[in-house]
Amino acid sequence: MIAPPLLPITRPTIDEETIAAVCEVLRSGWITSGPQVQAFEAALSELCGGRPVRAFNSGTATLEVALRLAGVGAGDEVITTPLTWVATANVILEVGATPVLVDIDPRTRNIDLAAIEATITPRSKVLLPVDLAGVPVDRDQLYAIAGRHQLRVVEDAAQSIGASWNGQPIGVGGDFVSFSFHANKNVTSCEGGALVLPADIDPALCERLRLQGVRRFADGGMDVDVLGGKFNLTDVAAAVGLGQLKRLQEFTARRRALARLYFEHLDRVLCLQMGLELPPAEFENGNWHMFQALLPADRDRGEFIAAMREMGIAVGVHYPALHLFTLYRELGFHDGQFPHAESVGARTVTLPLFPTMSDADVDRVCTALTIVLRS
Ligand SMILES: *Cc1c(COP(=O)(O)O)cnc(C)c1O
Repeated sequence: MIAPPLLPITRPTIDEETIAAVCEVLRSGWITSGPQVQAFEAALSELCGGRPVRAFNSGTATLEVALRLAGVGAGDEVITTPLTWVATANVILEVGATPVLVDIDPRTRNIDLAAIEATITPRSKVLLPVDLAGVPVDRDQLYAIAGRHQLRVVEDAAQSIGASWNGQPIGVGGDFVSFSFHANKNVTSCEGGALVLPADIDPALCERLRLQGVRRFADGGMDVDVLGGKFNLTDVAAAVGLGQLKRLQEFTARRRALARLYFEHLDRVLCLQMGLELPPAEFENGNWHMFQALLPADRDRGEFIAAMREMGIAVGVHYPALHLFTLYRELGFHDGQFPHAESVGARTVTLPLFPTMSDADVDRVCTALTIVLRS
């Protein structure tokens, strides 16, 4: 039998118009940060209800600058989830602060909001929640907690562009909101990120933290009074992002439709008898960044992934609980500390889901899944 072509877990949708726009930038004589970045920031700001937005060269840099703008440094504590891409916790270490982890709510797979208050100390400075797979954290509860304890919030919305809360797109409300435009995200600029700024933060300071701390004067002189990084986005990348942003609604709608198909196809027998767990059915607010099922606890995930691959279906793992990585164990984290995150992290599998996937592709995935799980 000829192996079918591998169906990837995700794939960017870059149209010809975007490719032409990139070529135009390349030919223009100005390829790093310039007019395209400004246009990208303006388009993002429009999506976020007119709030100020600044673009970065990665979501990680965006989060790091958000923490610095929130005044986080050595001795401060930042509260986040153990079930996320490790960047979320790495940036806390990067600014010299201490990550304080709170287990997930197994229903949403996001930080357990009800468990946050028990971890707050006089050193707590910021809540750093993550909308895993584009399922938004309950913003009403989140900001009620932040308000009661006078904490700032940096929303790690790397995965939730196009998702919404109370009928408003993520980014319209809230304190700091950080997006990522990594190649696998719902909107990409190949690599990139953007920070939505709260009203009390000076966008000019954000720009200085983005680029070497440099402040330029009208007479051509300059000064540096703060330590900034090298985090600016290129115009080439911004042109890609602009082309993507135009199609955000269409991409999100298609992702939702595919997720609905998964729910229709994955038969209840498979779930009830075989112990497969489906993701939270968040069709109103979620952007379906990923479709993540949990394998039965007694299944070997490595064997499952290999068997699916044999049938032409790529399967990903997003993510193992980060406190079990060596770096975090060396900081004192250990097994058994966050049982829900550990269980989901050990059982989670990401199935293919991207806008150009066909309905027949979903059929293919579900058929393979059924055969592999029953074998
Ligand atoms: C992708 C991602 C990041 C980091 O974004 P990069 O653009 O890859 O630096 C941070 N947090 C979460 C939850 C992410 O998914």
